Amino acid sequence: MKFNEFSFHKDLLKGIKIAGFKEPSPIQESVIPVIEEGRDMVGQAHTGTGKTAAFGLPIINKIANGDIERALVITPTRELATQVSDELYHLGRFCGIRTITVYGGVGYGRQIALINKGVQIIVATPGRLKDLYKKGKIDNFNPEIVVLDEADEMLDMGFLDEIKEIFEYIPQNRQTLLFSATIPEPIKALADEILTTPEFISVVGEYEGTVNNVIEQSYCVINESQRDEAIVKLLETEKINKCIIFCRMKREVDRLTEHLQAIGFSAKGLHGDLDQMEREEVIKSYRRNQVKVMVATDVASRGLDVKQVTHVFNYHIPFDPQSYVHRIGRTGRAGKSGKAITLVSTTEFKELTRIQKEVGAEMKLATINLSGEENSSCVDCFPSLEATVRAVDIDERALDFIDSMEDMDYHEFVERVVTLLLKGEKSPLTKHLGYDENSVKNMIDEYQGEQKVARHNNRKKKRC
Ligand code: AMP
Repeated sequence: MKFNEFSFHKDLLKGIKIAGFKEPSPIQESVIPVIEEGRDMVGQAHTGTGKTAAFGLPIINKIANGDIERALVITPTRELATQVSDELYHLGRFCGIRTITVYGGVGYGRQIALINKGVQIIVATPGRLKDLYKKGKIDNFNPEIVVLDEADEMLDMGFLDEIKEIFEYIPQNRQTLLFSATIPEPIKALADEILTTPEFISVVGEYEGTVNNVIEQSYCVINESQRDEAIVKLLETEKINKCIIFCRMKREVDRLTEHLQAIGFSAKGLHGDLDQMEREEVIKSYRRNQVKVMVATDVASRGLDVKQVTHVFNYHIPFDPQSYVHRIGRTGRAGKSGKAITLVSTTEFKELTRIQKEVGAEMKLATINLSGEENSSCVDCFPSLEATVRAVDIDERALDFIDSMEDMDYHEFVERVVTLLLKGEKSPLTKHLGYDENSVKNMIDEYQGEQKVARHNNRKKKRC
């Protein structure tokens, strides 16, 4: 299918062409005709499927054709609001669409002034939007289309009551669109409350057919103490344009960022303890390629759309399968390929298997090549050797050994040791980091054996 089959306004088709979209993604094919018809709908889709354009294109088209005057998009986070706003601006700029982003943490004055100037699309986060309605500052902005984006995330963030309150201010005579990656009970109930006989459209489980269809997924089994070393090796040996390293905890993000910066990587951390300005700053420098490595908690796993992220690394396996999907969706965007590599310790198999099963992900076991090339000489290992040397704690025996060489000066001693290393054809260091297939298979067998015994003992206990 082609975009011109939707009979879009010619200026909108121009925006689509400049954005480089060749053909509609599956969700766009299904959703656009429903929105064009004016029906309410619930769309179940993950980020990376092209869902922003799926609702954005028909909205811009209706405004460009004079069918409607205003639309409102509500998103859970400021980052997502900015991103949605950017995308709508780019797609609609030849139609002269005026869009504004409204969020908390900044003054009201400028936002209110811009709204009063006459914007057609407001993209807002729930808290600030509710305040503006309560203060009577946007009474004249009566949207004919309202989009709730990432409704399940709003639920998780505790925005449900605010959303319900906001809908009390919005005129009944509207078209309402709700997008969510999952549809738990409270979201179903919300849909019943704010939508009228909606059409349900789901593209979940069709990852392959989406715009982010080329993510090569692998995992590497390491010991708990090897995580930093593994990440450093990956950064050195993978062909990375930009990457995100996901951690579970904020303090882990801070520590790893500092470590990577200390050994010379252009890295910045992103987590919920940073204020909005700081978060914006990190994302901006990452978008502009001033920072190549973003170390983040799951705050960056949803919605964040940065082009040319070639790699996502999971420093720790995420807590739940949905987070895994969102995290890896930061790479392989807009039809580009990407790599997602997850580090798992030997005790994390259970979680890995659960995620693999629930997501249906095909993850290959991998080991980390220390040199980047097979059979390379140890010269290639020097960047990692240097990092390893700097990080190592000095052993007392090394001091005794050096004392015994007191007739040689330090420089000469080091030069001789390095020469010795260089003489070796092959790297004196282990060539790979991570357990190989056989070892992993043995671990799984052992783990499954333990599980069997535990289940057997449990049954026995119950019988007694
Ligand atoms: P989203 O799911 O809205 O976060 O979109 C993910 C990415 O896909 C964004 O960078 C969009 O600009 C891009 N995109 C959306 N629709 C298409 C399309 N039809 N063809 C190629 N890229 C697209």
